[in-house]
Amino acid sequence: MGIAYAVLAAVTKEMKGHPDKVPSKVGVRVGELAALDPDALRFCFEAITRDTDLQSMELDIEVCPFRYRCISCGHEFIVRDYETECPHCASLKTECIGGQELDLAYLEVEEYGTSTVGAKSTQ
Ligand SMILES: [Zn+2]
Repeated sequence: MGIAYAVLAAVTKEMKGHPDKVPSKVGVRVGELAALDPDALRFCFEAITRDTDLQSMELDIEVCPFRYRCISCGHEFIVRDYETECPHCASLKTECIGGQELDLAYLEVEEYGTSTVGAKSTQ
């Protein structure tokens, strides 16, 4: 539920710059390590946006894998079983580059009151 509110807060913040528009779709990037169930998030989001301007907004959830990058050779790889050793050069100097995200990837908006064909949307 907290994540749904975080997404809602991010959308609300973005929309402050577009008072004449309504959001039609929001893309959210969630890291695998966030151990989040996309269906649960969608359900929570629908629950908290019901009967608001955002109730018709679509939620697009992208799950990002747990990824590391090797500092020695630059190789990027997906971590399995928490093995963070570089599979390319066996270096242990690796850093986490993904898997814990909770980002607003994009927000599609349309002119207020013109949700039909021809509505202008920006990304
Ligand atoms: Zn390497």
